[in-house]
Amino acid sequence: MGAYPIVRLKKGREKKIRGRYPWVQKEEVVSADSAAPGTLAHLYDHEGKFLAVGTWNPLSRFPFRVLSLEDEPIDRAFFLSRFVKSASRRREIAGTDAHRMVFSEADELPGLIVDCYRDKAVAQVRSAAMEAMKPVWLPALVDAFQVTGVYERSEMEGRREEGLQPVAGLLYGEVPEAVPFTEDGLEFQALVVNGLKTGFYLDQRDARRRLAARVKPGDRVLDCFCYSGGFSLHAARAGAECRGVDITPAAIAAAQSHAQANGLDIDFVEANAFEYLQQPAATQYGWIILDPPAIAKSREKRDSLKWGVWNLVHRGIDHLAPGGRMVVCSCSYQLNLADLLDTVRLAANDKGKVALLEEVTVQALDHPISLSFPESWYLKCAWVRIE
Ligand code: SAH
Repeated sequence: MGAYPIVRLKKGREKKIRGRYPWVQKEEVVSADSAAPGTLAHLYDHEGKFLAVGTWNPLSRFPFRVLSLEDEPIDRAFFLSRFVKSASRRREIAGTDAHRMVFSEADELPGLIVDCYRDKAVAQVRSAAMEAMKPVWLPALVDAFQVTGVYERSEMEGRREEGLQPVAGLLYGEVPEAVPFTEDGLEFQALVVNGLKTGFYLDQRDARRRLAARVKPGDRVLDCFCYSGGFSLHAARAGAECRGVDITPAAIAAAQSHAQANGLDIDFVEANAFEYLQQPAATQYGWIILDPPAIAKSREKRDSLKWGVWNLVHRGIDHLAPGGRMVVCSCSYQLNLADLLDTVRLAANDKGKVALLEEVTVQALDHPISLSFPESWYLKCAWVRIE
């Protein structure tokens, strides 16, 4: 291992690093040896003591990110041991052969996300260092997860802050456009090349399972922002009558083919959910799922996100049968659970209704939430009964 550039931290800031918070802000750096974006570096405290080895990128608002609190080489064996550890965290997840195997900081690998659908992996690379270390982690990933193909979906705009262009393409072996997998006996295809994110929303698995467990045969379900139909398929198999709404034609096509492949009769509609809910209610639904995309990435946009959720709930109430349930989701870290609940309450009150919180679901276990890194908790769904 060669000599690493050294990043010196302001006095007092070592506590959060030892407490396993992995990001160092620009303002917390006293001085740093000059080094190109994407190099590995050592973090020292104000007394010159080693704190961590991690990734360095002077272009970023968070120029240093911790890989390890031990002074260890960041080589193929390091990545292999991290991958083995993340696999062991997911061992108890049953009923599916698709998992998020690496969830960035929460799996102690800042900047790297890996979803595996059977023997195919889809990676998202979010930092200059993970980009530079591809030749190191890629073979370790193939070994650890026993995959025959790796596809990259790094189209996030956030890469620009790291000095990287958004990219997508094959990294290793062979990967078809759509990769089949099974969730609780339902056949799905992850649209790994042309779909959203890595091709499927694995993070909502627990919520889909709760919905399947809670709906009664004949219940009417409106699945807004349905993407490839995950919620609808689970509910329909449990006997519900489902309608899914999504604005993206390819999502609707995928949802329809999923329904057909599983012998389920579901009505999928291509529409803007905001406009759809604005129309006069033709059906009274027992359940409405609202799972909008993360329209707000920055704190400044939080108000617009709240406004969006408020509108969806407000309009949705007109389509809900008396005592019906809404599952209101926020996949944006910026809109936290307290804000989400408050927004639902305000919309319900404005309609002269009361909202009763029945349960809260969060991102599935393979998207671990590190209490030391609150940013890793991004998804929360409020299950409310509207009266
Ligand atoms: N519930 C889905 C994931 C939703 S992702 C699942 O469990 O798989 C968000 C979805 O919202 C995307 O499919 C996107 O096409 C859709 N979308 C974005 N804006 C929309 C709008 N205004 N109206 C309807 N759908 C929209």
